[in-house]
Amino acid sequence: MDGRIYLGLGGNLGDRLATLRAAVEELERLGHVVARSSVWETEPVGPPPDYLNAVVALDLAGEHRPEAILDELLAIEARHGRVRPTARDAPRSLDLDLLLWDERVITTDRLSVPHPRLHQRQFVLEPLAEVAPDLVHPLLHRTIAGLLADLPRQRRVRRRPEPL
Ligand code: ADP
Ligand code: MG
Repeated sequence: MDGRIYLGLGGNLGDRLATLRAAVEELERLGHVVARSSVWETEPVGPPPDYLNAVVALDLAGEHRPEAILDELLAIEARHGRVRPTARDAPRSLDLDLLLWDERVITTDRLSVPHPRLHQRQFVLEPLAEVAPDLVHPLLHRTIAGLLADLPRQRRVRRRPEPL
């Protein structure tokens, strides 16, 4: 399958910005990165320190099974020292989430696309709205900009000046 995917990146351990930048380079193996958001600093749901979060859009090169994409994301996380299993909100060096794949809906044992919590998370919607404000969520039938506008502000999320 080809198409455009939107990936959420986050991390709150180690050299956070260097990790996000290295992950973007590794993602180039899947295709061509066509857009990247700003870097956002976010107060964590779990214990500190703060997260850095970002979103990239990537045009897939050739055919990819959905679970092959997930496996690639998990492999990149592992190379950056992510340790599993951990509690859901535990600190991590790198978290890569497949947020959206065009307007597809994919449900397997290991993968749900759209990411089931993307519309509840300001730290996902802020960077996603920078790269794809008019994209329509295929289950909620709302644009990303609309979802963000309606989201109650939750915790501190601020845009940082350094580029991804
Ligand atoms: P979270 O990202 O919610 O903090 P984890 O990264 O620990 O949680 O969860 C990873 C697991 O979530 C993966 O092993 C994968 O099987 C599952 N998963 C389901 N849907 C997705 C998705 N769209 N993107 C990434 N992981 C997903
Ligand atoms: Mg994840």
